[in-house]
Amino acid sequence: MSMRDIREASIKGKNVLVRVDFNVPVKDGKVTSDKRIRAAMDTLRLILSKNPDKIILMSHLGRPKGERVPEFSLLPVAKALASRLKRKVDFVDDVFDVDGIASSRSKVVLLENLRFYPEEKKNDAVFAKKLASYGDIYVNDAFGTCHRSHASVDAITRYVPSYPGLLLEKEIFNLDIERAKTPLVVIIGGAKVSDKIGVLKRMVRKADAVLIGGAMMFTFLKAQGYEVGRSLVEDDKLVVAKKLLSSSKNKIMLPVDVAVSRSLKSSTGGFGRKIVDISSLPRSYYGLDIGPETVDVFSSIISKAGTILWNGPMGMFEQKPFHKGTVDIAKAVASSGARSIIGGGDSVSAIEKAKLSAKITHISTGGGASLEFIEGKYLPGLKALER
Ligand code: ADP
Ligand code: MG
Repeated sequence: MSMRDIREASIKGKNVLVRVDFNVPVKDGKVTSDKRIRAAMDTLRLILSKNPDKIILMSHLGRPKGERVPEFSLLPVAKALASRLKRKVDFVDDVFDVDGIASSRSKVVLLENLRFYPEEKKNDAVFAKKLASYGDIYVNDAFGTCHRSHASVDAITRYVPSYPGLLLEKEIFNLDIERAKTPLVVIIGGAKVSDKIGVLKRMVRKADAVLIGGAMMFTFLKAQGYEVGRSLVEDDKLVVAKKLLSSSKNKIMLPVDVAVSRSLKSSTGGFGRKIVDISSLPRSYYGLDIGPETVDVFSSIISKAGTILWNGPMGMFEQKPFHKGTVDIAKAVASSGARSIIGGGDSVSAIEKAKLSAKITHISTGGGASLEFIEGKYLPGLKALER
């Protein structure tokens, strides 16, 4: 891969167009978490330190489907950004308003939600060219959008010299398992096998151990002939699971015990949590987490890892007491001394809930994008930066 280096770009007096991922949660006109805004700060500060004429920021927010939907306006984001940057941020509510952009008196300008325009998702060349005309150079720091072939990340690089931002560089560097220090231990969990087949296939080849938890463990267990009761199973993935198991050269590790519950509803304010061996899961029970013996087995493998890649919670962590498996594995990862990389929206929120983020080497900002990158797919937004 060959991309330009933003540190070497000539920026003084220039207009710098930056695609960021400011797809933040907004409630009642206020940004409720500015995590994604903070993630772009290194790039923005670097550019500002080189004294550009202007930084013109572009992002999407939510899924307005090509129409102007007020609840998806980026106006609240302009305010949150201003307070984070401690400088004025001008908001331009129409991306075609060339005069509005040119006459803005602050150094930082944020354009309205790109997805208000159907051209964005269509990767429309005319739209991309228009956006490109606002900058002397273009910087892409929106890693979370790079798996999409959209105008502001893909077509745009045909019309303006393009650079990766620092966050994007960091994501690519950390998610690249080709340079991982061995042993590479991969932890995969979450809802569905079908979401993660690509990752599983590649990891069975590349990793030294693949630890499987979450709801998807039951598809693998069933494929091995175990009774899984009323646990979530994808029957149409049993064949794939069997194939993965037989091609994995014993790299795949499945749980030896699980936490189960008789019901998915808590009538008494608490769920009954019972630990059973995987060979004796009762027919009428739901499997909702890995058990303590599994935590011990997995933790011991984790403690010897050189690199750990984790995607997908070990159980239904949103519902106590089925958070335990995920939290215990998070603790094992945090104290392992290995390089640790975590991707996936729910996995990241589980780590944050457990207050262990600071002990993780890299927490990816891209959900779908990081998954596709780990699968080994060539993301259109990254490819575009090599033009
Ligand atoms: P990520 O966002 O990290 O990629 P996923 O979206 O694949 O993770 O999966 C997370 C979801 O999987 C969570 O909502 C969690 O409750 C659910 N889950 C995990 N294990 C189980 C289980 N045993 N039964 C039901 N749901 C589960
Ligand atoms: Mg998820």
